[in-house]
Amino acid sequence: MIRSAIDQAVTLRGVGRLYGRGDGQVTALRDVHCSFIQGTCTAVMGPSGSGKSTLLQCAAGLDRPSSGQVMIGNTDISTLSETELTKLRRERIGFIFQSFNLMPSLNARKNVALPMRLAGRRPSRAQVDQVLQQVGLGDRGKHRPAEMSGGQQQRVAIARALISQPDVLFADEPTGALDTNTSREVLTLLRSLVDNAGQTVVMVTHDPVAAAWADRVIFLTDGAVYGELLDPTVESVTEQMARLGG
Ligand code: ADP
Ligand code: MG
Repeated sequence: MIRSAIDQAVTLRGVGRLYGRGDGQVTALRDVHCSFIQGTCTAVMGPSGSGKSTLLQCAAGLDRPSSGQVMIGNTDISTLSETELTKLRRERIGFIFQSFNLMPSLNARKNVALPMRLAGRRPSRAQVDQVLQQVGLGDRGKHRPAEMSGGQQQRVAIARALISQPDVLFADEPTGALDTNTSREVLTLLRSLVDNAGQTVVMVTHDPVAAAWADRVIFLTDGAVYGELLDPTVESVTEQMARLGG
């Protein structure tokens, strides 16, 4: 299928990211070109320290590249002020972490509503119910994180990311803290968001099983894109990772 530029949810053009200066300078990303197509799931893989988290944070507007350009849809985010970037992140980007980052004292409904409340808006009860139902936790709204399994907690974090109806959902090792069964729970959910709701998902993972749920895998080594696989399988991903020494 021929895709036009409009189908690209996120595009990185020649993105570089340096940390520090002088002798201690680290090149976390070098001249990265890639794009993420709307309504697809991409996995980002590579050895530890290869720049996966930096790539995700630059693509999500959480970090600013040292060089190059990041487009979210048709918006060049390098031209935005801090205030505009904060607004874009709130309205158009969802981000989930390995460690869930839920507030332990708040129940699921309040955790889901928190980002919007912090932005000075109060989501309706129906909005909160809708995203909790979407992640299969319609009956868990009153439960606190400690009263839920790791997989359920990560699904609350996904609901929290979805409440703003983001263009793109970024996930940095979303199953990294989960066992095989609860990982599958979270991956099934992410896959269904792509297949049934047309969500765009970009997830970093170490796990070939998780990567095989994606439509495409991008491999990084030493801050650069090494290659990619379409329609990955556990076997093809494992083979590629062995080649990278990761
Ligand atoms: P990955 O997620 O693939 O493990 P990262 O993107 O976290 O890799 O890191 C890529 C490189 O950049 C590593 O060498 C790391 O040590 C370095 N790095 C990441 N964040 C910072 C930072 N805030 N300050 C200095 N160096 C950093
Ligand atoms: Mg990382």
